[in-house]
Amino acid sequence: MCKELFAIFGNPVSHSKSPLMHNLAFQGLGIDACYTRHLLKDGSTLKETFFNLGLKGINITVPHKEAAFNACDSLDPFAQKIGVVNTIVEREGKLHGYNTDAPGFLKAIAEFKEVKTVLFLGAGGTAQSTSSILKEEGYEVTLLNRSEGRLEKYKADGFETHTFETFQAKSYDLVINMTSAGLEDENLPAPTHILDSVIPKAKACVDVIYGKETPFLKLAKSHNKPTKDGSDMLLYQGIIAFEYFNNHLFSFEQIKTHMQRVFDFN
Ligand code: NDP
Repeated sequence: MCKELFAIFGNPVSHSKSPLMHNLAFQGLGIDACYTRHLLKDGSTLKETFFNLGLKGINITVPHKEAAFNACDSLDPFAQKIGVVNTIVEREGKLHGYNTDAPGFLKAIAEFKEVKTVLFLGAGGTAQSTSSILKEEGYEVTLLNRSEGRLEKYKADGFETHTFETFQAKSYDLVINMTSAGLEDENLPAPTHILDSVIPKAKACVDVIYGKETPFLKLAKSHNKPTKDGSDMLLYQGIIAFEYFNNHLFSFEQIKTHMQRVFDFN
């Protein structure tokens, strides 16, 4: 029996790499804790489920990141601003909420220097937190989405937004696939003529999907562009969550040494 218990809540949740990542770090750092997964069907039961399972902390994945926001007793300022929580820590019977997807993503793209303009392909939940942190950091983010509906809130937040029909290509330093196109299919995130108008001018292309070379990254490579998939984003959001779980007792690099072994497993 472990002293402290952690979990990921989601639906589906069986595919998640978080249990392996966190357990590798707990073992490697000699912490008496375990991390498991829990299929949460009804987001409104998140808080009672957390306490019923006797947990110390959780990560939250699709579709419960907004329910997680609502379940918290206190929020860190960035999570408060974007309304999306993927990490909760219990302290003295209260739930404290954080978002680690966005800072994880920010760190993952830090290797690309002299980047100012960024084109997001997609405007879903992941784009929401990551566009917000990039804007805070001074990047100019334009969002291009297949359908109009999701763009409304970005427009209201002052982002430049387009659908495929209204888009007129400019030059963007980074082009990033924020859609699920290519995840379980071989689709591109936008029509080829649009991608062919922005990729050649980009310094690099990034995909948030990990574990496979997507059609988007294949296309970027065919244009001889540097590419990066979503593995570091996955790893870094996990490391930052682990820092919260353990009160920043270990450094980012110490945690990374153990957690990155997740990629040794298939
Ligand atoms: P959402 O369901 O919230 O949004 C999906 C987005 O993809 C929408 O903008 C949707 O457009 C668009 N889309 C889906 N299919 C297509 C298609 N065939 N062509 C064009 N656009 C399409 O998803 P999330 O934001 O939660 O996730 C997006 C991606 O991010 C996923 O692939 C997920 O695996 C990945 N991810 C990676 C993480 C990591 O750590 N690396 C962490 C979290 C997510 P529309 O509005 O028109 O439907």
